Amino acid sequence: MAEVATDWRELESRVFMQTGKRQPVVLVRGEGSRVWDEDGKPYIDFFGGTAVTSLGHSDVALAEAVADQAKTLMAVSNLFYTVPQLQLAELLVEYSCLDRVYFSNSGAEANEGAIKLARKWGGLKKNGAFEIVAALDGFHGRTLTTVTASGTDKYKDPFAPLPPGFVHVPYNDVDALAGAITAQTCAIMLEPVQGEGGVNVPDDGYLSAVRQLCDEHNVLLILDEVQTGCGRCGKLFAYELTGAEPDIMTLAKGIASGVPLGALLAKEHCAVFEPGDHGSTYGGNPLACRAGYEVMRRIIEGRLPTKAADDGAHVEQRFHSMQDRLEIVAGHRGKGLMRALALSREVAPDVVAKCLEKGLIVNGVRPDTIRVLPALNIPREDLDDGLDILESVLAELSDE
Ligand code: PLP
Repeated sequence: MAEVATDWRELESRVFMQTGKRQPVVLVRGEGSRVWDEDGKPYIDFFGGTAVTSLGHSDVALAEAVADQAKTLMAVSNLFYTVPQLQLAELLVEYSCLDRVYFSNSGAEANEGAIKLARKWGGLKKNGAFEIVAALDGFHGRTLTTVTASGTDKYKDPFAPLPPGFVHVPYNDVDALAGAITAQTCAIMLEPVQGEGGVNVPDDGYLSAVRQLCDEHNVLLILDEVQTGCGRCGKLFAYELTGAEPDIMTLAKGIASGVPLGALLAKEHCAVFEPGDHGSTYGGNPLACRAGYEVMRRIIEGRLPTKAADDGAHVEQRFHSMQDRLEIVAGHRGKGLMRALALSREVAPDVVAKCLEKGLIVNGVRPDTIRVLPALNIPREDLDDGLDILESVLAELSDE
């Protein structure tokens, strides 16, 4: 039978729940830091599925590990011990300041677990304290509770009534946090660098001051490292840049470079879950954990956090020179390979579209902000080729 070309965009508009606007491109294949569309056009990928593909696309060793695990044991109940889950948990405990691990399937789920853990801790150890103080412009996921923890009203307003017990203060403001803590507060929940909020980097000293506040008030510090973790910011975990150790940390995205996996980690003193408190059918299955183990081992052994720091410095330098020469560039910010360019006008959608035309994927995280999140192992040539495209687009927009 002759193959009939399918109009995938038309199909999507008919059958798919309309939860977000898509770029007008159907991606069918990826390799390293490049992806190809259905017409065979290549793109340099500076977005990586929102900081997910830490090892780039279609990494051969990862694909082989996943295939091997799929042929060996993919899923069994968490009522049994499984090897990849425990190997990955051991690796995370060895390389972080946390003591215990629970696996989920996504960042939101890891954060749900973190919130439940903090509330249980507050119930047991702090007279029933249940409130969580979080940051405006913070982002923690799209489940009802994590969207409530997030600091953007438009994501949550349509879903009221929302779960109680969340208070929001401006990010990077220690006094505001101090003012929001009450006897009911069990935790402060923050991203070390706000991702979806626009790659907002707090002042040096902010997180260590928050840590001190938590110690003074007997409040847990939950760091959401779903986007910043796993090497992205130039250290294995971004808290290492700050000197502030979290009591609870969450991971997802880059941990398994594209295989759905999240992790909730806690220090022993607050790892208060008991059998029956929490669970997930898929969470921590051998397939996802084998992928996570392969990816985290490669990130650590390949010193990819250091490479991300070096590449990040290079991107920073190039952004700086763009700012010097192009009026459209108002500034830049970021850590490691989590970077943003601030624009002097709200033209991020135009920048994204023009880059796409020229074969580069970037993200317009805000109307006036372009975010780049390349793979941690991106070759320097690909990084420079992508930056050249971005610069040429910004130059065109500066002339207009
Ligand atoms: N937390 C942070 C900091 C994130 O950036 C995201 C996603 O962008 C999430 C949580 C939610 O993760 P997921 O989409 O895997 O549920």
